[in-house]
Amino acid sequence: MATFKEFRNNVKPNWCPGCGDFSVQAAIQRAAANVGLEPEQLAVISGIGCSGRISGYINAYGLHGIHGRALPIAQGVKLANRELTVIASGGDGDGFAIGMGHTVHAIRRNLDITYIVMDNQIYGLTKGQTSPRSAEGFKTKSTPEGSIETTLSPLEIAMSAGATFVAQSFSSDLKQLTALIEAGLNHKGFSLINVFSPCVTFNKVNTYDWFKENIVNLDQFPDYDPTNRMAAMNKIMETNGMLTGLIYQNTERQSYENLVAGFQEQGLANQDIQLSQDQFEKL
Ligand code: SF4
Ligand code: MG
Repeated sequence: MATFKEFRNNVKPNWCPGCGDFSVQAAIQRAAANVGLEPEQLAVISGIGCSGRISGYINAYGLHGIHGRALPIAQGVKLANRELTVIASGGDGDGFAIGMGHTVHAIRRNLDITYIVMDNQIYGLTKGQTSPRSAEGFKTKSTPEGSIETTLSPLEIAMSAGATFVAQSFSSDLKQLTALIEAGLNHKGFSLINVFSPCVTFNKVNTYDWFKENIVNLDQFPDYDPTNRMAAMNKIMETNGMLTGLIYQNTERQSYENLVAGFQEQGLANQDIQLSQDQFEKL
């Protein structure tokens, strides 16, 4: 069985020292090992942004896609080879701005993919502009007078879109983050894991200390029931989206690929594809 170190390749990450994304990478590697995966059973598909580099740093199949398009690629990979465990990853700009249309429809489609968003509430790669996750009043080069737009709530959107797994964590809490990624990998359907992952270079407001002061850990609520959709929505709104932990899980709904004709559990998928290839070659 592979150890977490075997999910690391020899490429040195070029994130800034202190960037939250280092811990996210470490958590993915640990979770992959903990659920018993081998590197050849995992594909990591990423979008564009600092966080998008992650697919190049993990010893697994990987594809560094185009901006906002990690999810269409990841869904294609999963449908082509449903034996693979597929992780899609990227930043808040990638997934909640240019890629938001894909995010919403991937959530409601419910393929068995784990989507990990490194949410630093800014565009880091392009050197610090306001993202949909930036707070109102947030000053950057693109909003020198402060942002006048409402902050997007990905957790509320995910719940409204019919998500079957919604979690949020903090890159500093490696134990919780690893456990949530493991739970996401084990969930049979689409898992959204939004991770507060500070950008130490361009976001001087949402710092490690700021997150530590503002995060509300669901562990504080022992009676919280993550299978209760209404309770999940209420808790997201009560905490202004700052809660961490497993927020919602629905294990009743089947994943998309198991509902596609010809992709049933009996293993007909590859056989069907092979037949159609044979037919194609005879044409
Ligand atoms: Fe991380 Fe920000 Fe540096 Fe990008 S610019 S690597 S997000 S700290
Ligand atoms: Mg970002």
